Formats: sequence, C-alpha cells, structure tokens
Amino acid sequence: MKAGIIGGGAAGLFAACQLKRLPGDKDLDVTLIEKNPIPGKKLTLTGHGRCNITNRKDPSMLKNCYHEAGNFIYPALKEFGPEDTISFFENDLGLKTKEEDNNRIFPVCDSAVTVRDTLVSYISDRVKIISGANVLDIKKGDVFEVNTSKGRFEFDIVILSSGGSSFPKTGSVGDSYNFLESFGHTIISPRGALAPVKAGKDSAELTKALSGVSLEAKVSLYLSDKLSASTKGEILFADFGLTGPAVMEIAREIPADVEGSNACLELDLIPSMSDDEFDRELIGLIGDHPDTKITNLIARYIPASVAGEISARAGFADIYAQGFPKESRRRLLRKIKHLKIDIAEAPSMDKAYVTRGGVSLKEVDRKTMQSKLVPGLYITGEALDVDGISGGFNLQACMSEAYLAAKSILSMQ
Ligand SMILES: Cc1cc2nc3c(=O)[nH]c(=O)nc-3n(C[C@H](O)[C@H](O)[C@H](O)COP(=O)(O)OP(=O)(O)OC[C@H]3O[C@@H](n4cnc5c(N)ncnc54)[C@H](O)[C@@H]3O)c2cc1C
Repeated sequence: MKAGIIGGGAAGLFAACQLKRLPGDKDLDVTLIEKNPIPGKKLTLTGHGRCNITNRKDPSMLKNCYHEAGNFIYPALKEFGPEDTISFFENDLGLKTKEEDNNRIFPVCDSAVTVRDTLVSYISDRVKIISGANVLDIKKGDVFEVNTSKGRFEFDIVILSSGGSSFPKTGSVGDSYNFLESFGHTIISPRGALAPVKAGKDSAELTKALSGVSLEAKVSLYLSDKLSASTKGEILFADFGLTGPAVMEIAREIPADVEGSNACLELDLIPSMSDDEFDRELIGLIGDHPDTKITNLIARYIPASVAGEISARAGFADIYAQGFPKESRRRLLRKIKHLKIDIAEAPSMDKAYVTRGGVSLKEVDRKTMQSKLVPGLYITGEALDVDGISGGFNLQACMSEAYLAAKSILSMQ
C-alpha cells in the first residue's frame, strides 16, 4: 500500500508522525509532497516564533473553542486531545513543554523552527519527503494519480493536507479547494479568521494616533446597525486599524461583502462598569474635582494617551470639570463606552492566521477524516471547514485530525 500526504504543513507533518508511531503495517509506503523547499513554513511562524502547540483547557470546554465545528471535531479531540499532544512532544519528539497564561502550551525551547525541524527529523527514516514539488492535480481511477511539477505519483490512499488560503506567502494558496472540488466536494467560501481589522476613513486617524496602545475592552460587531457578535479581551490600536486577541477573534464574523455597508466595531473601553455605573462615577468625580481637567479624570480609567485623544476629538482637551454640562458628560461617556471604529474591508487573507470555510463537514466522516464521497481520500487541517480560537487550538485540531486519519489508514492494513 502506498499513502501520499499532500502538503507538508502542520497537518501533513503530524499525519506522517502518526503513521510512523502508531501500531500497524510498517511496510506502508508513505510519501509527503510539499511545494516549498522545506516543509512546515507556516509552522515556523506560529506563536510569534515560539509555537503555541496546544491548550490545556478543561476537556469538557474544548469543543466550544471551534465555533460551528465543535461537534465535528469532538471525536478527534476525545481520541487525541491536548494531553496526548503534550505526551507526543515530550516522549516521542523529546521536546519538553511548559504552560503559560490561559493554559497555553509552548515548547520549553521557545522555538517554532526547532519544532518544525524535530518533526521533519522524526519522520525522515520512515517517510519519503518530496519537497519543492507543486501538486497540480489529483485524479482517482484504480489508484490516486497525483501530478506535480516534479512528476507523477500513484497512491492507494491520499491525505489531503494542503491547507486553507490564509497567509498565502507560506504556501497555502487555496489549492486544496480546487483538488476537492474536482472530486465533487462542496467548498464553503473561505474567509479570513483570527485577523486584524482595517479601520475605515472615519476612524483611521484615531487608530493611527493611538498605534501601539493596548487595553482590555469589550468589542461588539455591528452590521447594518444590528449587533452581530461581541467578545471581551485585549485590543491593540495599530497604524492600519485594530488588532489584538479580542479583535482577531471577532474578525471571523465580518462578512466578505462588508465594504460600504456601514459596519463597525464598537469598543467599550471600560467593560467592568455599565453605562449608568460609569455615569455615576463621572458625576462623582466632576463634583469632587472641579479644578481638574476632564482628560485627567478619565485617565483614571483608561490609558492617558487614549483619554487624551478621545477627549481632544470630543473638544474637551482643555475643559475643566467645573460646570461640565450633562450633555457633554453623556457625549464623553458614549465616546468611551461606545467608541465606533468603522470597518474598511473584510479581513485580508494575507494577514489572517487561519481560514474560516473549506470543505463541507457534512461530506467528511468525523471519526476517521475520510471523505464520504471518495473512499481512500482523507482530509485534515485547514482544508476542512474548521477554525479554532487563538491559544493553540488550531494546531491541536491538526494533531487530532491527523491521528484519526492515520489510525484509520493503519487499521485497513
Ligand atoms: C502567523 C501565524 C501564527 C500562528 N500561530 C499559531 C499558534 O501559535 N498556535 C496554533 O494553534 N495555531 C497557530 N496558527 C494557525 C496554524 O498555523 C494553522 O492552523 C496550521 O498551520 C494549519 O495547518 P495546515 O497543515 O492545515 O496548513 P498549512 O500549515 O498552511 O500547510 C499546508 C501546506 O501545504 C502546502 N501546499 C499547498 N498547496 C500545495 C500544492 N499545490 N502542492 C504541494 N504543497 C502544497 C503548503 O506549502 C503548506 O506547507 C498560526 C498561523 C499563523 C499564520
């Protein structure tokens, strides 16, 4: 039997590792085909170069970290969860791990390049790696025929792990969708997820002026004046708009046709207080500190630079608390707790960390990752319509899916 792994990113490398380590026929001939000169280019960028490999979240909460794909991914997480990933890294790869805030797990070496190199070296005696080979098309007759820029290959089984279409400079340019469509699979339109958001012209100056400032906020997405989604967490102002975990998380809800639709992110910069509570605070402060500038009063709650910008833009830069009119207080409150940042465009695939969309999950067996349309075709990683929140969940999904695929393939031997 010959198995071909198409794409040597996280999902492809993990599948190759599982085919090596799981019990089963060691005569299975495994070839991994990767278009880049070295596999795992995106992997080397993960976790800001440190590779957040998984997350030790309470197992009962894990599937909630995958949005609409929670039920699909559940069996995979149950069979090969974060503890299995940690054990694989420590005991098979020899890479010690450590836990950081929010249960995120990193290798002790803090090096995503080392993770990639260790994975490649782990499989090198077991798997033939054909790198620099761009897969052009995949057909199925008696066997799978894979045409590449380096020649034609035949396989009995194919694991398709050529990724989504986010961060295309790493090699994943959406080829998976063409291969899968040619087999009759349905592709749910790919969109950027875990992505920064570009501010529209009404807010671009403000975000640029505050570039580099981060704070905790509640972020709400409004589409056509209707609340569509909201989350809380860290936001970061940037030259181009907004980023930071909370913004990146909500970005997946921004539709592709958002341009010109009046969409905005509303920021509550003091999420720990309701509007009424903060208003009462302001009334108290204004009464107690009549000789203090309004800007300095609000700087007690938000970073001074943000207080300065907001107050200046509202025309209160040099205004003292004494006699501050109710109307002005209400306007200030709206600017702090309902700060609207208009959205210029849908999240760019160039900057999105993961792809939302991909092959319809109805067409994939969630217990094996095998296509329900094409026997012998397995689909793993971002080619699937699965995207997780930030914190190591996307690599964990690749791991869990790779495990199920490898286990199913080896059980056929
Ligand atoms: C900057 C950044 C940081 C991230 N940090 C984290 C993190 O810390 N933790 C986490 O869990 N997730 C993180 N992610 C997300 C995570 O990296 C991805 O979800 C994961 O890499 C997806 O793996 P994949 O194998 O499906 O796709 P990819 O990693 O994109 O791999 C697909 C591979 O297929 C190859 N390929 C594509 N088309 C062809 C073709 N036609 N022929 C041959 N080969 C082909 C590509 O070159 C590529 O190597 C991050 C993503 C980015 C962009």
